[in-house]
Amino acid sequence: MAFSLWIDGEEVEAEEGQTLLEVARAHGKEVPVICYHPATTANALCRICVVEVERQRLLQPACIVRAAPGMKVSTQSERVRRARRTILEMLASTVDLSDAPEIQAMLETYQADPERFPEAHPRHVPIKDDNPVYIRDYAKCILCWRCVQVCAEDAQYTYAINFSGRGYETQIATFYDHPLPETTCVFCGQCIGVCPTGALKPKLEFLLETTGSPEGVLEQLAAHWSQRRRRRA
Ligand code: SF4
Repeated sequence: MAFSLWIDGEEVEAEEGQTLLEVARAHGKEVPVICYHPATTANALCRICVVEVERQRLLQPACIVRAAPGMKVSTQSERVRRARRTILEMLASTVDLSDAPEIQAMLETYQADPERFPEAHPRHVPIKDDNPVYIRDYAKCILCWRCVQVCAEDAQYTYAINFSGRGYETQIATFYDHPLPETTCVFCGQCIGVCPTGALKPKLEFLLETTGSPEGVLEQLAAHWSQRRRRRA
């Protein structure tokens, strides 16, 4: 059943069950998202989509909060913009966002200053290169959880990866940090498809970027296979 509510002062119609994000987007309102992806279950982890709802003390994550009759919602209030700016500043101070153009654009839109938390230190995690298909560079991971979701119930049902560690040390990992070929991973590539930061990347793309040419890629691959042959001999 349809009902009406107000978004940024404009009366709009919504259907029962629609989230504030869906209603806002259906009426041309810009609400940024990072952890949200249409192929995964919304989980409100990153909180970049927060909006202000009249008579609610806390800002509400638009990706999971359902629209209700008569709600008065603000998607761009000063409080909302300040919260988004702070989230972006915290992300940029600890994560390598060089391969995340959409988040970089958000930093500009919200005038976020990545230097605002000088005491925070960027995560230095060695690149995991343990299989022939893709590399994992968790220094670029924002812990959005999309890869874990598509690896589990949202798509592949293989459960090869999950959160590991606590607090600042949290990262995505395989069980007991085993190399991917020793896990349930079937190399379907869906995790790469939903990763918003380049933390997961096809091996060929990575080699092309690091060597700078197709010849460089071939050299690297030849070296890799001859090393493998020597190890097996
Ligand atoms: S590896 Fe990519 S998809 Fe997975 S949690 Fe990190 S940023 Fe998100």
